[in-house]
Amino acid sequence: MQVLKFGGSSLHDADAIRHVAGLIREESARDRILVVCSACGGVTNALVRIVELVRSGQTSRALDEFDALAVRHLEISANLKGVCELPATPSEIHRLMAATQASISGATALTANSEWSDWVLSFGERISVRLVALALNELGIAAKAIDASELIVTNDQFGAASPILDETHARASRNVRPLLQDGIVPVVTGFIGATRDARITTLGRNSSDFSATLLAAAIGADEVSIWTDVDGVFDRDPRNGADTAVFLDELSYEEAINLARSGAKVLHPQTLEPLIGASIPVRIRNTFNPRHTGTWIGPELRSIAV
Ligand code: ASP
Ligand code: MG
Repeated sequence: MQVLKFGGSSLHDADAIRHVAGLIREESARDRILVVCSACGGVTNALVRIVELVRSGQTSRALDEFDALAVRHLEISANLKGVCELPATPSEIHRLMAATQASISGATALTANSEWSDWVLSFGERISVRLVALALNELGIAAKAIDASELIVTNDQFGAASPILDETHARASRNVRPLLQDGIVPVVTGFIGATRDARITTLGRNSSDFSATLLAAAIGADEVSIWTDVDGVFDRDPRNGADTAVFLDELSYEEAINLARSGAKVLHPQTLEPLIGASIPVRIRNTFNPRHTGTWIGPELRSIAV
């Protein structure tokens, strides 16, 4: 069982999403797959701007910006015509757009609290998973978009919620395992969870990697792949010294955490946390250079492991 996580830069437009669907298809020929997606590139930043506009009393400008976002997503969905009658249908995308638009138009600077803002921010991931599921359907792969609010149980610290691990493990495996057993690819939103009373929360900016590792631990995955726009981890930022940066094929969890602390661009230590107890390795892969094997991070270096 594999968890594949795709970041926003891998989901920029219909062509990118179709390419991602092709990668998922290849992997799904070898193993059972659960997919975790970020919002399409730039969408969460746009939603943060929309929230700020509402909070500063500029709701009509916020609605204009939301319309532009809606058009961008509608163009993508028109481009990806799903062939299977699974729940990832365009009508669900329309419903989500209308609900979010109504919520923005009904909000005022006074009502735009952090609970409301998390609900609005969740739009990016809730739409992107439906687009990815559509693209998979287009390739003839059975896929179901799932909001992680059904899987990840959190406290009510809106904007930076923490998962409640035992409840998340129970709920995630209960809801996801039957799909995996039926050969359906669950396509799950990164970034979000929900309180026990079903109010949507977010886990903090850039937390979709963490969503992926949390779910991997919950379902007992064999490996997580974080698909991004670089080949993997270098010992320093290659942009600051292209000639001297050394590519790292493999790292132990401990080395990865030390590298992150010293400022290298590697997974956030929080992302590794759920994997460490379960000894699940993670691989950083490049969506735009999928033949590259990437950087493998695990309990101990494979070259010295027995
Ligand atoms: N879309 C969210 C963000 O931009 C989460 C993520 O991409 O990891 O912060
Ligand atoms: Mg991101």
